[in-house]
Amino acid sequence: MQQINALKELLQTPKKIMITTHHKPDADALGSSLGLAGYLLKKGHHVQVITPSDYPSFLNWMSGNDRVLIYSPSTDALAQQIIQDAEVIFCLDFNHLGRINELGKYIEAAKGVKVLIDHHLQPDHFADIMFSNTSAAATAELVFEVIRDLGDEALIDVNIGECLYAGIVTDTGSFRHASTTRNVHMIIADLLQTGIDICKVHRNIYDSYSETRLRFLGYVLKDKLTVVREYNTAFIAVTSDELKQYNSQTGDTEGLVNFALSIEGVRFAALFIDRPEAVKISFRSVGDISVNEFARAHFSGGGHKNAAGGISYQPLNETVNHFVSLLPLYAEQLVN
Ligand code: 5GP
Ligand code: MN
Repeated sequence: MQQINALKELLQTPKKIMITTHHKPDADALGSSLGLAGYLLKKGHHVQVITPSDYPSFLNWMSGNDRVLIYSPSTDALAQQIIQDAEVIFCLDFNHLGRINELGKYIEAAKGVKVLIDHHLQPDHFADIMFSNTSAAATAELVFEVIRDLGDEALIDVNIGECLYAGIVTDTGSFRHASTTRNVHMIIADLLQTGIDICKVHRNIYDSYSETRLRFLGYVLKDKLTVVREYNTAFIAVTSDELKQYNSQTGDTEGLVNFALSIEGVRFAALFIDRPEAVKISFRSVGDISVNEFARAHFSGGGHKNAAGGISYQPLNETVNHFVSLLPLYAEQLVN
């Protein structure tokens, strides 16, 4: 309540506002950012969304997408200027400034009031106003609640609604993860009231594969999946040559890790992608196995209990070998 009052006070008069979210934004990152942007624009603020990197083309349909500034060396000066000038800086769907690349140091030095809205575990305390709820299913759920608690639920229209819905539907795994509470469904009911087209949103996100992406999926499942039965673990490792061969675009590897987890008996899944800058890793688990802890302990990462990510600067094969060598340490959780 204190945080809502502080935010209400801050937004009393039109402000220059900058919104950002994590590297390689997913539907919750971009949907919560554009949903919030749509609301703040309606309230008469000046709003600029800046993403630290590009994002999948299956998110391009969101209202406000055309006005997003994607950070790159060529937009660096403009991004710096916007961050310097911002009176309010919203940080959505990430828990520490290391998750937003170069933007992190600019925001750290910025004079604007920083507002965090996030649901990741163990958030850093870099913001002046914090809405951190680690049991929320999605940041979009929290954005809905913030707008509602500011007394403005009536301003949530179909465009804002579809952005928020996209965030919630993806982060709940289409309403199947344990985070899918009554509260989530109540919010969805309210969003449906605005006239959102859920068929359109699902088709845009899940049924918009390019032909090469689908063939890449087929190749990976047939040839690249390793199952370590002894530890109820499955993983996929994709080389940079394979990414090139299938002309892989941002977002093309999204969801791959879930196939590894969908094998009967598998409790722990990992996806290793050999990116130019480092090996990017996704972890997923079922039940009590905390991949947040695993990613933090061994791969400089973090996230949620059952969905986390990390990074490795070792070659792909060494990274995978290291991962496999760690499994016996977790035998108790993985096997019993
Ligand atoms: P994904 O595997 O889909 O990229 O990410 C799963 C979850 O872990 C997301 O909530 C994402 O924000 C978080 N995550 C992914 N990579 C990292 C990372 O390198 N560091 C941290 N702290 N979180 C990550
Ligand atoms: Mn999220």
